[in-house]
Amino acid sequence: MNFDLERIREDFPILKREVNGHPLAYLDSAASAQRPLSVINAESHFYQHGYAAVHRGIHTLSQQATSDMENVRDQAARFLNAATQEEIVFVKGTTEGINLVANSWGGANLQPGDNLIITEMEHHANIVPWQMVAQRTGAEIRVLPLNDNGELALEQLAGLIDSRTRLLAVTHVSNVLGTVNPVKAIVAQAKAAGVVTLIDGAQAVMHDKVNVQDIGCDFYVFSSHKLYGPNGVGILYGRKALLDEMPPWEGGGSMIDRVLLPTGTTWNSAPWRFEAGTPNTGGIIGFGAALAYVEALGLDTIHQRETALMNYALDKLASVPDIRIYGPQSRAGVIAFNLGKHHAFDVGSFLDQYGIAIRTGHHCAMPLMHHYNVPAMCRASFTFYNSEEEVDRLAAGLTRIHRLLGG
Ligand code: PMP
Repeated sequence: MNFDLERIREDFPILKREVNGHPLAYLDSAASAQRPLSVINAESHFYQHGYAAVHRGIHTLSQQATSDMENVRDQAARFLNAATQEEIVFVKGTTEGINLVANSWGGANLQPGDNLIITEMEHHANIVPWQMVAQRTGAEIRVLPLNDNGELALEQLAGLIDSRTRLLAVTHVSNVLGTVNPVKAIVAQAKAAGVVTLIDGAQAVMHDKVNVQDIGCDFYVFSSHKLYGPNGVGILYGRKALLDEMPPWEGGGSMIDRVLLPTGTTWNSAPWRFEAGTPNTGGIIGFGAALAYVEALGLDTIHQRETALMNYALDKLASVPDIRIYGPQSRAGVIAFNLGKHHAFDVGSFLDQYGIAIRTGHHCAMPLMHHYNVPAMCRASFTFYNSEEEVDRLAAGLTRIHRLLGG
């Protein structure tokens, strides 16, 4: 594979930083990825030359900013292979996208006695909004468990679905275990029973091509900041027929057709009906640059490079004494582990002294921590701008911590 790592790292100025006297080894991209200069420059260029309020503006700058923003909607539609750009809703991130569906679709469609299915490996963002709407509507939450290999116990799914199952929400890739769920097969099984599906793609879109029409899901959600773009921007893909039926969840400017007093206000069409208020235009422009960056590099290339690096890392880390690695052998992006009996915070703090940035804690996945009966885990994440040398430093750092602290 022709992959010029040194050149690619030049695109990410922050990777040249030193931390605590060591070169930064940034192994926390699954929490938030670093941005290439093209993203930083696109946002800055927009503020220097193109900024104005979008929608409704008659002046040149406003019209240009509106069309720039709408172009990013088209770009996002192509990125996911949505059937039309009207299936793309701009949101703040994965969390807001799921809350939108839970409140709008869930609020309109869930009745007492209905049920919805989530899984034991979900991020809190794909648990709590469903619990909140279930509490409000009287619906029941059912949970598909994990097996011992850190994969979903899919053979149990049929037993959870019945005639009152309305929705199944599942993550595409686990943010802790890196498990890649067979979402196409899961969606097919749900669809056959008339169940609406939502896929949390927050940890998936950066590792491999996603084709929502091929998956067949009704909703797909992800965040720009994990895909090398700005924070505060995300995408909710919703199948047009569903979006068209859904009521708005937030009221305000831009989402209306006509406002009448005292009542009788009517809504804009989807997706604009779900975008009340002034959007994060600069962030959306930066997100467009992030999509362009990823597409220029090529998701096939990214996938190959990351798979090679992941295999290298799994191999290296296996030699660290007293390490316990969680999850399946085949995985995307992340390796969660604990070192002997030491708390993840201690391990993470030591690594920080060596300039190595990893994530520690419950990873917004407390049910998964309960499954493994641990309060916390360490998580190193790997992306195309990471190097084998950084993996070596992680393994050497962990071995050293083990020597200093004991098992
Ligand atoms: N789902 C998964 C699987 C995630 O990893 C994350 C981010 N850690 C989220 C949802 C929430 O994303 P955001 O905070 O960008 O809304």
